[in-house]
Amino acid sequence: MSAEATDPGAHARKRGRPRIDLRRLGRVALLGPVARDRLPDAIGHVAEAHRAHHPDADLTVLRRAYVLAESSHRGQMRKSGEPYITHPLAVTLILAELGAGTTTLTASLLHDTVEDTEVTLDQVREQFGDEVCYLVDGVTKLEKVDYGAAAEPETFRKMLVATGNDVRVMSIKLADRLHNMRTLGVMRPEKQARIAKVTRDVLIPLAERLGVQALKTELEDLVFAILHPEEYAGTRALIAAADGGQDPLAEIAESVRATLREAGINAEVLIRPRHFVSVHRVRSKRGALRGTDFGRLLVLVSEDADCYAVLGELHTCFTPVVSEFKDFIAAPKFNLYQSLHTAVVGPEGAVAEVLIRTHRMHKVAEAGVVALGNPYVQDGTTAAQHDEPVDGERADPTRPGWLSRLLQWQESATDPDTFWTTLRDDLAQDREITVFGAEGGTLGLPAGASCVDAAYARYGDAAHGCIGARVNGRLATLSTVLTDGDTVQLLLAQDASSGPSPEWLDHARTPAARIAIAGWLEAHPDGAPGSHKTRPAPPRAQDRAADDPVPGLGPGPGRTGDRDTGVTVDVPGAPVRLAGCCTPVPPDDIIGFTVRGGAVTVHRRECPATARMRAVGRPAVGARWHDTGAWGGPADHRVTLVAESFGRPRLLADLTEAIAAADAAIVSATVEPPSEQRVRHTYTLQLPDAAGLPALMRAMRAVPGVYDVSRAQQPAAAR
Ligand code: MN
Repeated sequence: MSAEATDPGAHARKRGRPRIDLRRLGRVALLGPVARDRLPDAIGHVAEAHRAHHPDADLTVLRRAYVLAESSHRGQMRKSGEPYITHPLAVTLILAELGAGTTTLTASLLHDTVEDTEVTLDQVREQFGDEVCYLVDGVTKLEKVDYGAAAEPETFRKMLVATGNDVRVMSIKLADRLHNMRTLGVMRPEKQARIAKVTRDVLIPLAERLGVQALKTELEDLVFAILHPEEYAGTRALIAAADGGQDPLAEIAESVRATLREAGINAEVLIRPRHFVSVHRVRSKRGALRGTDFGRLLVLVSEDADCYAVLGELHTCFTPVVSEFKDFIAAPKFNLYQSLHTAVVGPEGAVAEVLIRTHRMHKVAEAGVVALGNPYVQDGTTAAQHDEPVDGERADPTRPGWLSRLLQWQESATDPDTFWTTLRDDLAQDREITVFGAEGGTLGLPAGASCVDAAYARYGDAAHGCIGARVNGRLATLSTVLTDGDTVQLLLAQDASSGPSPEWLDHARTPAARIAIAGWLEAHPDGAPGSHKTRPAPPRAQDRAADDPVPGLGPGPGRTGDRDTGVTVDVPGAPVRLAGCCTPVPPDDIIGFTVRGGAVTVHRRECPATARMRAVGRPAVGARWHDTGAWGGPADHRVTLVAESFGRPRLLADLTEAIAAADAAIVSATVEPPSEQRVRHTYTLQLPDAAGLPALMRAMRAVPGVYDVSRAQQPAAAR
């Protein structure tokens, strides 16, 4: 397959694609009327592209790097027959176009010297300093001679570890892979397919997570052409056919321009062709393509507020397709991306998808972390600076949560095959959620993560002794899938005798948990004395899943199953949950916080979690207990409490003593037979007054061995 036959960029170029056209510039730099032996001209395009983003950049270091790279690679040829230096030059031009800083470009020019020439890392360090040396070292492959079949996995491991310290390592690797993919046509088909698969499974997800859309889309099209040649050819034919006629988007673009002009909004309205894979996806989803499906409208404005003004005009003057509206400005994706997405119905009934963003958002959308320039220096132009509520993933774009987690689990994956398989699985997972630890701190986890994942993320190998969890205050099975904003408390066995059950593997989504569980099971083929083989969760926890409301306040049968948390919040209709970290009870002073998904979590006002909620920008919501009329009559001073405990001698005596110390009378009590070291006591109590309940529950929880005390829906006698 020749390079021309699989040239996905050709279509975009012909149609005047408004995005940064890396490929065209790459060709100009390499094949243009430039004498390669004349130094300034050879890197002239790189310098020009670099200056466009960084007008004050010092180019002398780039020239020095070029001289060293060119002289050391001299005589080497690429498989295509071109002088080797064309490769580092093309890679550097890709990065320069995306706005990378001088240090990245210097390292990019030198990126293959240590691997393929006589140049040593020490020489690079002497001539270009520690930073450039670190970047070059980060992308230098480990030798097959030393590592055999493990060379590729171990090279990626090394690169990811280096990326953890300096994200520019991965910028260079991605650009390197893009140029190699563009020129893959000269390789044997089996080798093309092998490289394309690694690109699909590892490099493309990394480009996506680092927000480098321009590299991601081109890589996707190149992989598509190699791995799915027939679908690729079909898509190519559809696009070619559509190119022949009148573009229905042009007409809609013109009326959008007129609408915005009339409204006095200064905006650029462009037609942005979809890349091949995007067209293919729309076609697979919808079965057939409409004329407007080959591209989207891109509206570029100057200020963030203009984005919403444009949206308002479009939704007023056109019929919007409401289901297509997504606000990635207020609720950004995990990877820096910001835009408003909507779709409108044009004059002829054609539906056009529209992206609305500022010029700055556009640059970040295209170039992601590469657009940060030097992400470790605040130079006033970095995207890292825009002040937004900090929520973990966006707090430090150079060290996102997924990368920290990846670097953590890879330490336990000592075997290269395990590392390689787990890496691809990890990268295949989508966005992530933030959960709050009941003891403080937050955990970033992939969507779909369970309490098992939270346990290993929070406690590492100590999670082997996990016997249950409280999610938003309620006991929950370890298999409970967590949602964004949940508060999780993990219950660990006090002795070291218990261990994970094999079923935990079914509930573990994160590599850290899977590797730790598999390792423990391998080392304990017969399980442990306390292994939770049959019951991975505390007794009856199934009855009270994560989102089950707190049982009603009263013990009477009339209130059995009452789904009222007893709290009113200032967000009408919002589901209300009592926070598990502080377990508020009347008459505690309480406050609510809206979590993603619209639910309101209610905390005691002095709970440390309220400060964390505020710090991550969760809005506070007024909350108050219902009319405490339920506590008015003498019968209503009864309450039923369930104490979940580890069995031990004198437990019953200690619990009843705590109850007596609070002046409560025991109306009835049930003690279920111990199961796997755990005991459940249910007490129906008569209290002198309702205000004493919180203190009583805390006193019971303070009894050694007790890990949960909660209100039950039915009195002890009824069990
Ligand atoms: Mn290279």
